[in-house]
Amino acid sequence: MSGTPITKLETWAEVPKNSDFSIYNLPFGIFKNKRLSPRIGVAIGVKIVDLSVLDQEGFFSDLFLPEGIFLSETLNDFISLGKQKTRKVREKVQELLLADNASLRDHSIRGKVMVNRKEAEMLMPVKVGDYTDFYSSIEHATNVGKMFRDPENALLPNWRHIPVGYHGRASSIIPSGTPIYRPKGQYKDPTMDLPEFGPSRRLDFELEMAFITGKETKMGDSISTKDAEEYIFGFVLFNDWSARDIQAWEYVPLGPFLGKSFASSISPWVVTTEALEPFKVQGPVQTPEVLDYLKIEGEGNYDLNLEVHIAPDGKAPTKVCDSNFKYMYWSVAQQLAHHTVNGCNINVGDMMASGTISGATEDSYGSMLELAWKGTKPLKLDTGEERKFIADGDTVIMKGYAEKDEVRVGFGEVSSRVLPAK
Ligand code: CA
Repeated sequence: MSGTPITKLETWAEVPKNSDFSIYNLPFGIFKNKRLSPRIGVAIGVKIVDLSVLDQEGFFSDLFLPEGIFLSETLNDFISLGKQKTRKVREKVQELLLADNASLRDHSIRGKVMVNRKEAEMLMPVKVGDYTDFYSSIEHATNVGKMFRDPENALLPNWRHIPVGYHGRASSIIPSGTPIYRPKGQYKDPTMDLPEFGPSRRLDFELEMAFITGKETKMGDSISTKDAEEYIFGFVLFNDWSARDIQAWEYVPLGPFLGKSFASSISPWVVTTEALEPFKVQGPVQTPEVLDYLKIEGEGNYDLNLEVHIAPDGKAPTKVCDSNFKYMYWSVAQQLAHHTVNGCNINVGDMMASGTISGATEDSYGSMLELAWKGTKPLKLDTGEERKFIADGDTVIMKGYAEKDEVRVGFGEVSSRVLPAK
C-alpha cells in the first residue's frame, strides 16, 4: 500500500463520473468570464468556486486573510500566505462542499459562488519568476544518449549523481489554449556544409510535470530533501516545446537556448501537494547510492497517469503516448535540494519542470523525438496521416490524473495549437 489512505467523501456539487476535479482534488486557478474580472477559484466538477464571494460572505473569517486576497490576478500573494493558511482555505472549501453541510448548499449566495467552468477563461495561475528545467527521467536521458551519442554508454558520467538541469525562460510560459508560433532559427543538419535559417523543421513537445514553489529562501540557504515539500505549493502539466534542429546546432557548449525558449505551455489548475499525497509511491532504486544531501526517506514519487494526444488541423485526436510521473529517477525533493545546495535563493512562484517523462516501453516515450526515433519510425495517426515531428495546425493535448480506490485527482489538460512561423 502506497500513499496516505483515503477517507471517502460525498459532495452536493455536480461532479461527473471520472471528473478530474473531484471533492478530493480542489485545485486553485485564476479565472475570468464575461461578467467577472480575474480572480482566484477552486475547481469542483463542472463548476468553479469563486473564493472572493465566499470571503465577502464571511466564510473565511476565522482565517484572518488579507482583504481582497482572492481578487488577485495571480496566485502568488495567496501562496505567499504559507501552507498553514492555504491548506486551511482548501480544507474549508472541501468542508463547505460536503453533501451533508448545508451552510453553502442551502445559502442564497450559492448561485453566485458556483461559476460554470465552461463559461470561464482560465489565465496563467502564477507570475513565474524563474523557470528551471530538469532532465530527470532515466529512460528519456538514455534514449537521447542512444540517438545522439553512444548506444552502449548512453548516460553521461554525471547523470546518476546529480539531477541535471538548466535555467529556462519564464516570459514565454503560457496557459493552455494559447497557440504558439513555429519558431525560426539556425540549424545545420549533418548533410549541410553551412547553417541555414528558417522555420524549425523538427518541432517537438516534451511531456513534463512542473512544481510551483510556495515559500522563499534567502541567498546562502539550502532546502533539505526532508523539508522540500514545505516549499512546494503544487503541480501543473507542462509541455516544454522544443525545436530539435535549432537545439542540436546551438547547444554546445553552454546548453539549451533558442530551441527551448520560445514557448512552454501549462495546465491552468494548480493541484496541491495535499491533494496528491494519497498517490505517493516509492521512486526507482538509485544506483550508485547518491550523496547524502540527495538522500530521501519514504515515498518521493507520484503515481500519476500521463497522456499525450495529437489532433491534426480540424481532425480528431490520436493518443500517441501513455506515461507516468512515477518513472522519474530523481524526485522533486531531490531536485529542489540540488537546486538550492549552492545557496541559490528561490521565490514564491518559481516553476521547476521535471524534464521529459518517458517510460520503458516505446508507447510511453514523452517526445516525438523518441516516439518516432529521430524521424526513422514515423507515427501513424488515426486519420491516416504520419508524423515525425509536429506539423502546423496540429494541437498537442496532454492529460494527467491519479486514481486509486475509485478516487480520481486530475489536472484537466494542457492543449495548444501550432501556428505557422510568423
Ligand atoms: Ca524540457
